[in-house]
Amino acid sequence: MNRERDVIVIGAGIVGVCCALYLQRAGWSVRLLDPKGPGHGASYGNAGNLGIASCVPAALPGVLKKVPRMLFSSEAPLKLRWSHVPSAAGWFLRFVANARPSRVEAIADARQALLSRLHEGYQPLLEEAGAEDLIRYSGLLMVWESEEAFAGAAYALDLRRRRGVPFDVLDGNEARQIEPTLNPGIVRAIHVPRLAHTVNPLGLTERLAAHFERLGGRVVREAARGFEIGPDGPTAVTTDGGRHEAAKFVLAAGVWSRPLAAQLGTKVPLEAERGYHNMFPDPGIQMRVAVMSADRHVAVTHMAHGVRASGVAEFAAPDAPPDMRYAAMVRRQAAALLPGLNTAGAVEWMGPRPSHPDSLPALGRSPRFANVFFAFGHDHIGLALGGITGRIVGDLVAGRDPGIDLSAYSPARF
Ligand SMILES: Cc1cc2nc3c(=O)[nH]c(=O)nc-3n(C[C@H](O)[C@H](O)[C@H](O)COP(=O)(O)OP(=O)(O)OC[C@H]3O[C@@H](n4cnc5c(N)ncnc54)[C@H](O)[C@@H]3O)c2cc1C
Repeated sequence: MNRERDVIVIGAGIVGVCCALYLQRAGWSVRLLDPKGPGHGASYGNAGNLGIASCVPAALPGVLKKVPRMLFSSEAPLKLRWSHVPSAAGWFLRFVANARPSRVEAIADARQALLSRLHEGYQPLLEEAGAEDLIRYSGLLMVWESEEAFAGAAYALDLRRRRGVPFDVLDGNEARQIEPTLNPGIVRAIHVPRLAHTVNPLGLTERLAAHFERLGGRVVREAARGFEIGPDGPTAVTTDGGRHEAAKFVLAAGVWSRPLAAQLGTKVPLEAERGYHNMFPDPGIQMRVAVMSADRHVAVTHMAHGVRASGVAEFAAPDAPPDMRYAAMVRRQAAALLPGLNTAGAVEWMGPRPSHPDSLPALGRSPRFANVFFAFGHDHIGLALGGITGRIVGDLVAGRDPGIDLSAYSPARF
C-alpha cells in the first residue's frame, strides 16, 4: 500500500487532536493513536482557561529562596515525592538556571508569541466542528488577599503589561462587583476581560476528535511502544496491537512523549507536574468569571457540569498513584476563596502537566529524523495552545512556513 500521504499522530490529548485536524485539512490521511481514546490525559481535567495572560514562566528570579517554604508548608502547592528526587534533580537545576531575568524575558516572549495566536489556532477548528458553544468569553480575575502578596506579584504583572496583555487592576470591592461569590478578604485583583474558557475540557477534545473521524480520520486505540527505523527515519510505529506504517510521524503524547522521543534518539527533560482537581456537581453558586487565587494557588472555573477547582504541582512519576490529600487541599482552599461553594459530592482527579524546565514546549522537527515532528511539553498552557500548535505542525509537515520563529521551542535545545 502507498503510504506517502499517511501521517500518524501519537497521543489524542488536545494537542494531538488539533494536530490531526490541521493535518487532515492539509490533505493528509491521518491516524491518531491513543490507548485511552481522545482527551483522557492532562486534557481531561484542566481548569479550562484559554489563558492569554499566561506568558509568565514558572521559574522567576528569587525562586530558589521560595522553594523550601513551598515544599515544607502543608498547604503550599509544590509537592515532591522524595523517591523521585534523583530522577528529577537535573530538571530542577535547569529550572533554576531559567530563573535569570534575561532568560525569563526571553521565555515570556516565546510563550506570548504562541498565546497571542491561540484564537487564530482554534477558531477554524471550533467553527468546523461545531464546538463554539463550549467556549465562553467571560473573563478572568486573579485575586490576592494581602497587599504584601500583591506587591510580590509586581514583577510578573509587569512582564504581562510589557507584552500587551490587557488587564485592569482592581481593589477588593471592585473585584466582588464582578464576581460576588469571592470572599471578603480579597484586597486586590487583576481583571482580564474576555479571557475565554471552555466549559467542558473533555467535551472539547471529544467534539474535535469526533469531527476528525467524521471527515475520515481514524482513532486507533493502541499504545505506541516503539518504531521501525529505516535509512531515512521511522517507517512504522509498533504498538500493543500491531504496527502502523506511515510517511510522517507526530509525537504528541504529553508527558508520555519522553520515552518515545528517547527511542527516536532525542533526550528531553520532560517531567510530570501533576495537578489535582475537584468537580463540585452541585456548587450552590453561579460564578460569572473564572478565578485564580494567587495566595491560595487554585483556579476555579464554572463549567457545564458544576464548578471545578484545580491546583498543585506534584513532581512524581506520571503514572504513580495519586495522593488525594492534595485534592483535599485544593478543596479547602476553594471553599475558603468562595464561602458559598457547596463542596458536597466532590469528584477528585489527578493528571500530569507535561513540563520542561524552561516552560516552553518542544515544537518542531525532530533533530534526528526529518519525517518526525514533536509537539509536547505545554505545561500549564497546553489547552490554550492546542489549536495554534496543531496549526504550526500542519504547516511544518506540509513544508510550509508557519510564519512564526520556532527557534525557542526547538526540540534540539536541551
Ligand atoms: C490541574 C490542571 C489544570 C490545568 N489548567 C489549564 C488551563 O486552565 N489552561 C491550559 O491551557 N492548560 C491547563 N493545564 C495544562 C493542560 O491540561 C495540558 O498542558 C494539556 O492538556 C496537555 O495536552 P497534551 O495533549 O499535550 O497531553 P495529554 O492531554 O496528557 O494527552 C496525551 C495523550 O497521550 C496518550 N498516550 C500516552 N502514552 C501513549 C502511547 N504510548 N501511545 C499513544 N498515546 C499515548 C495519553 O493517553 C493521552 O491521551 C492544566 C493541567 C492540569 C493538570
